[in-house]
Amino acid sequence: MSGLIIQKYGGTSVSNINRIKKVAERIVRTRKTGVDVVVVVSAMAGETDKLLDMVRQISPSPKRREVDLLLSSGERISSALLSIALDNIGCPSISMTGRQIGLLTDGAHTRARIKQIDTERAKQVLKNKHVIVVAGFQGINERGDVTTLGRGGSDTSAVALAVALGAEKCEIYTDVDGVFTADPNIVPDARKLDRVSYDEMLEMASLGAQVLQIRCVEFCKKNNLPLIVKSSLADDSTGTLICEEDPNMEQPVVSGIMSDKNQAKITIKGVPDQPGIASSIFTALADESLSVDMIIQNISAEGQTDISFTLAQADMGEAMTIVKRVATEIKAKKVDSDSTICKVSIVGAGMRSHPGVASKMFEALSRENINIMMISTSEIRVSCVIDEKYAELAVRVLHDAFHLESESAESGISDGAQSA
Ligand code: ADP
Ligand code: ASP
Ligand code: MG
Repeated sequence: MSGLIIQKYGGTSVSNINRIKKVAERIVRTRKTGVDVVVVVSAMAGETDKLLDMVRQISPSPKRREVDLLLSSGERISSALLSIALDNIGCPSISMTGRQIGLLTDGAHTRARIKQIDTERAKQVLKNKHVIVVAGFQGINERGDVTTLGRGGSDTSAVALAVALGAEKCEIYTDVDGVFTADPNIVPDARKLDRVSYDEMLEMASLGAQVLQIRCVEFCKKNNLPLIVKSSLADDSTGTLICEEDPNMEQPVVSGIMSDKNQAKITIKGVPDQPGIASSIFTALADESLSVDMIIQNISAEGQTDISFTLAQADMGEAMTIVKRVATEIKAKKVDSDSTICKVSIVGAGMRSHPGVASKMFEALSRENINIMMISTSEIRVSCVIDEKYAELAVRVLHDAFHLESESAESGISDGAQSA
């Protein structure tokens, strides 16, 4: 049996008919190397946002089941168009929805998790030498209702299929050349990383490097599946390899700077300082599949304390309803929310063995008068919550402070500088 490659094309890669035709040509070139190809596509760029905007114009609290059915249509359109483009250039192909590819999820609409993939039909189609073009980001739950996997979820569809079908590798095609030391749209001299470990990529993805959905990286790490991120817009893109950490190589102290504006903070004031209180708040959130990020509890005064935590901005409305209910039950005084915050983070496997990295970060932020509201750390990461208006400034300042610029930018003297 020939090898199998999974290729995932993001929204920009299929944003118009010309690009869809180019993707079809790339798939044909890959097949000519003698491998089978399963393709996963996102909705055309902007499509998911457009659909969500229509929902917002109708209702502030739509039924998540209906939102899922609506959003899944974006990926259906691009998968059908790409399949038509492939057939048109003589490459037999078949498009498939989440249901048709056998992707079963749990019932958490709009943020469902993959439970199982029934690959029987896919294997049959591959035997018949057809390319499969899968509508990413979607599956069905046990009741047969359409579910979606959360923003950026086509990345996770791709790696889950790669694992289920035993692919030799999974390639993620996007609009940048790979994973960079910072978002290249914020820091123009950010450097492309040739190789990133699963652990670093997990941190980067969870801290705002939207280039990969976090659950996709979790899947790769668990199954030791090499993942390649590269550009679909350039033919010579070498990309970034995400794989196991190489114990023989020295790890960079800081590999990247991330920022995440899609964060919000909820503060519960005047919480009775008693055992079981934190558990009642956070269990209620977990019961609704809401993930919480940083948690801070102040030192108690007169038997009362304040608890603040951050979470994804999109979850804030739902979380506030739950927290207000629990706050009444536990007799807390007040609940506040703030969505004008941002989390800025530095990540690097070499941090494990280098002290002083956090203090250098705090110093660089303080030089710009950027106030730090919350701090959290892991072995290979330091994150600070700051005012959203300083997000880009903080990323640039930290990128400079840790000397992450590309070599050409470091050594290159611009024409202007030479003549000055
Ligand atoms: P796709 O539609 O292909 O899935 P995304 O928009 O989800 O693409 O992800 C690609 C974007 O991720 C890039 O355009 C870039 O702005 C952003 N990004 C953020 N941080 C990074 C980073 N560290 N390296 C590369 N890209 C990043
Ligand atoms: N179309 C979905 C989104 O925009 C899923 C994806 O692109 O991966 O989030
Ligand atoms: Mg994406």
